[in-house]
Amino acid sequence: MTLTVPTTYKALTEETAIALAKTVHTFDPAAQLTCREIGDGNLNYVFQIEDPKTGKRLIIKQALPYAKIIGESWPLTLKRATIEANVLRKHGEFVPSLVPVVYATDEELAITVMEDLSHLEIAREGLINGKNFPRLSQDIGEYLALTLFHTSDYGLHPFEKKRLAAEFSNPELCKITEDLIFTDPFFDLDTNDYEPQLQTAAEAVWSDRKLQLEVAKLKKSFLTESEALLHGDLHTGSIFASQTETKVIDPEFGFYGPIGFDVGLFLANLIFQSITREGENRQVIVEDIGKTWNVFAYSFAELWKKQSVESFKETDGYLEYVLGKVLTDVAGFAGCELIRRTIGLAHVKDLDSIEDTKNRISSKKQALKTGQALILQRQEIASIEDLLQILEEAR
Ligand code: ADP
Ligand code: MG
Ligand code: MG
Ligand code: MG
Repeated sequence: MTLTVPTTYKALTEETAIALAKTVHTFDPAAQLTCREIGDGNLNYVFQIEDPKTGKRLIIKQALPYAKIIGESWPLTLKRATIEANVLRKHGEFVPSLVPVVYATDEELAITVMEDLSHLEIAREGLINGKNFPRLSQDIGEYLALTLFHTSDYGLHPFEKKRLAAEFSNPELCKITEDLIFTDPFFDLDTNDYEPQLQTAAEAVWSDRKLQLEVAKLKKSFLTESEALLHGDLHTGSIFASQTETKVIDPEFGFYGPIGFDVGLFLANLIFQSITREGENRQVIVEDIGKTWNVFAYSFAELWKKQSVESFKETDGYLEYVLGKVLTDVAGFAGCELIRRTIGLAHVKDLDSIEDTKNRISSKKQALKTGQALILQRQEIASIEDLLQILEEAR
C-alpha cells in the first residue's frame, strides 16, 4: 500500500508521516522507515522517523488545530507552525550551532521537518535528576545575546526590523502568555491550580495590591515593547543539552517583545532548581544563573560596540541604561514565571515531582516568596549579585 501525503490540513498518522518524510529525500527511497509519535504536550504532534538500517532519523512536528488550554479543547491557530520554523531559521542565522536544522516546512500542513536531537536530553529532565550541563549557561547566554541583539533596532535597519516585527506578529500565542503568566495567577480564578496547603499563600498574592501594580507594569512591557525577536517560551523544557552541546527548540511563541522576557524565563527555570537543590549541587545552579547573565551582558555589549547601527551607541550611559532595564525586567519576568508555575494553570515538574509533601509545599512557598521579592524589589537591582542576594534572602 502506498500512502499519499495530504495536501490540505489533516493530522498526520505514523503512516502518513513516513510518506511525508520520504518526500524530503534524506532517506534511501527503498528504506523501510519506522515512526513513533514522541510529543509530550497537548498542542502538537512530534513524529520521529528512522531508517533502522542506517540509524538516520528526522523529526516532523505538526501543530494541532485544538489545544487543551484551561481544561478544555480550544481552537489555536496553525500559523504557529510557520512562526516556529521561521524563528528557528532566523535565530539560526546567528547561532547555527544552538538550534536544530530545519529541512522543510509546509504551511498548509502546519509542519516543520527538522534535525533529530534525541542524542541529547531535555535540560529540565537532566537538571531534575541532579545532572549538570557545563555548557548550558555559556551557550544560552550567547544564544540570548546573539538572537536578541541581531533582531533588535540596535543591530538592524529600522525597515528590516519592522518588517520582521510584522512577520512575527503572534497574537493568539501572546494572549496565552498574557493570561497565563501576567494575569490569571494574580487573581482568584478557577483557572488557577494549586495545592490546598498553598491557599493562604495564594490569597496573599491575590490581595497584594502593590504586587498587582508591579505585575500590571510588567504586562505592559510585554504588550508594548517590540524590542527583539523573542523565543517566547524559553524554559528548560525547550532546551536539549548534553555535556558538550546545547540546542534550543520550540519557539512557537516567538514574537517581538522585550529582551528581558527570554532571559527572565530561562533564569526563573534555573531558580526552580536553586530552590529544590541543596549544598554544592545548588551552588552549581547559582553559578549558572550568574554566568548566564554575565555571558549575555558581555556578549551583548561586544556586539553593541562592534556592530550597533544605533546613532546613540557611543552616548555615555546608553548601553548601561539598556542593559540595566533588561536586568530589571529579568527580575520582574522571572518573578511572574515563578508565581505562575506554582499557583497558575501550567506547572513545572521541578516542583510537582517532589514526592515528600512537606518538602514540596515548602519549595512552592519559597518559589512564591522569591517571585514576589523579585517583582517588588526589581528597581533596586543594579547587578546580577543583587538578584542572587534576593534569592538567598527568600530562602
Ligand atoms: P511542544 O510545543 O508541544 O511543547 P516541543 O517542540 O517542545 O513541542 O517538543 C515536545 C517533545 O518532543 C520534546 O520535549 C522532545 O522530547 C521531542 N522533540 C521535539 N523536537 C525534537 C527534536 N528536534 N529531536 C528530538 N526530539 C524532539
Ligand atoms: Mg512539551
Ligand atoms: Mg515544548
Ligand atoms: Mg511549544
